[in-house]
Amino acid sequence: MEDDLINKLFDESWSYSRRKDIIGNLKTINYDIIVIGGGITGAGVAREAAMRGLKVALIEMQDFSSGTSSRSSKLAHGGIRYLANFELKLVREATTERNWMRNHMPHIIRPIPFLFIDWEDGKDSKLLIKIATTLYDVRSDWFSNFKNYKKHKWYPPEKVFELEPEIRKDGNNGGAVYYDNNMDDARITLEVLKEAVIRDADIINYCEVTDYIKEDDHIKGVICKDLENDVDFQVKGKLVINATGIWTDDQVENYPDDIPEPVIRPTKGVHIQFRRKDIGNEMATIIRSITDDRAFFVLPREEHTIIGTTDTDYKGDLANPYCTKEDAEYLMKSVKHYFPNANVDFENLVSTYAGIRPLVMQKGKAESEVSRDHLIFWSNDKLLTITGGKYTTFRKMAEDLLEEIADKGLFPGIGRKKGFSKKMLKISLEKDEWESLSKTFEVNLDNDILDHIYRQYGRGAMEILKIISETASLGQRIDSENAFILGEVLYSLRHELTLHLIDVFCRRTEMAIKIDHRNQSQAAKKVAELMAKEYSWSDEKKQNETNDYLDYIKKTVSFI
Ligand SMILES: Cc1cc2nc3c(=O)[nH]c(=O)nc-3n(C[C@H](O)[C@H](O)[C@H](O)COP(=O)(O)OP(=O)(O)OC[C@H]3O[C@@H](n4cnc5c(N)ncnc54)[C@H](O)[C@@H]3O)c2cc1C
Repeated sequence: MEDDLINKLFDESWSYSRRKDIIGNLKTINYDIIVIGGGITGAGVAREAAMRGLKVALIEMQDFSSGTSSRSSKLAHGGIRYLANFELKLVREATTERNWMRNHMPHIIRPIPFLFIDWEDGKDSKLLIKIATTLYDVRSDWFSNFKNYKKHKWYPPEKVFELEPEIRKDGNNGGAVYYDNNMDDARITLEVLKEAVIRDADIINYCEVTDYIKEDDHIKGVICKDLENDVDFQVKGKLVINATGIWTDDQVENYPDDIPEPVIRPTKGVHIQFRRKDIGNEMATIIRSITDDRAFFVLPREEHTIIGTTDTDYKGDLANPYCTKEDAEYLMKSVKHYFPNANVDFENLVSTYAGIRPLVMQKGKAESEVSRDHLIFWSNDKLLTITGGKYTTFRKMAEDLLEEIADKGLFPGIGRKKGFSKKMLKISLEKDEWESLSKTFEVNLDNDILDHIYRQYGRGAMEILKIISETASLGQRIDSENAFILGEVLYSLRHELTLHLIDVFCRRTEMAIKIDHRNQSQAAKKVAELMAKEYSWSDEKKQNETNDYLDYIKKTVSFI
């Protein structure tokens, strides 16, 4: 059974060539639940429901995780700064979920040390930092099966300068080192979706839910538009779940009395990337803006450093937020203050991205004070909505939703013990297993490439090695500065319902943020060539796909 599920990950049934068959199923099957939205929230719900034996459909109008779930700070974290708002329950939930993720997705969740400094003229005193980091450890480990990676430790200034040589020395009173994790948000969403696919869920992208099918005023299905072919079709099911993040209000027709209308307060957060050598940071640092005292992160990500995020109310196009010159300058100014030798200017900027938070409305609160807790509510027409929350708490959110459904008695026998879905993802692979298995392939790849494919694809990395052992040229780098290779693109085309060039760059890999924007055109041409061959694209289609992606990149750095 376990092996069957693992084999299903690689049987090519969730690929572009099978898209018609998936839509065929959606048109004919009467599902237990239909999930609208293929971000991490919808993916988590689909996984949890399929694991409890329900027949699931999931419909996503863009590519999977195109909304907020590919645009986060990419941290599986407990949210240490929520302690300042006394959100102890949320921190307990997020730290314990973080620990579950690290233990059950070991290839893609990577612990990193965070430095939290007591600055002479700063808001965070030694006492406050010690209380926060102690609480952070205690909240995660108390009665938990999966413990924190390491406990925090306080260091005097001399030791801090040893650990982080480029950090500002003036007014530095020492600091604590605590641990959270780097992750790849878009890839985890895909792997969570696959957990449902291998349990017979039908999951589709580029299909928009445009209306509901109703019987006696109760929703019993959805009307969809296949945006690739401009064709409408119906999907029927017993229960429809709205997991559309920042689009939540577009789906709700009837609000219960205790839910504000609109329920979502969208706020924008941007990130900017540099080569790590241009900042020289060894670990992650939490710093406060010298403009307005807001906390944000300087995050190491292999050879790069991600800086972010901002938090500002947003009224623009939800699907297409971008970093502005003001956003970038706001972040760069403070990084230069705390890392006085850093080369952070527009000349050295590698890339930017922006995302919108699905915060649940709380009137009278500043953006950063709004709770990150999630919300589940029924509408009179029996639409069930789940929204808000954190990426890191996706499993707990899904568990709460399924327990709500179980309590209503809609599907007998689906109730489970708390934590039932804290299981290993089938794609997960321990490092030592990878090290012995990868040696059985005759391939000639540099170590950074081997590390990269393991970290991103887990067990899938073995499929990539298979591809390269058959065609050595697919082991070629796409960009000389990075470890991305053509073989991983082919893997994604065959196993991950990948339709467009932009999907490959933004959501199957991190090429959109790690390849310098000046080198994107060359990289796009190489990948377009491979996709054209695999999908039999015409020259015109290949050119259009390339133009669409490069237009996006242009907008991410339009202010330079
Ligand atoms: C800047 C920023 C940094 C963050 N950093 C972190 C972090 O480091 N760690 C963390 O834990 N959390 C973080 N978060 C929060 C986290 O990213 C979000 O809570 C999470 O991604 C929300 O996921 P979601 O699935 O609810 O929404 P989304 O990912 O937006 O998914 C909703 C999906 O619904 C689809 N949809 C909408 N309408 C329809 C329709 N009619 N038909 C079909 N599909 C539809 C959309 O296309 C979209 O893909 C961050 C958020 C932001 C903005």
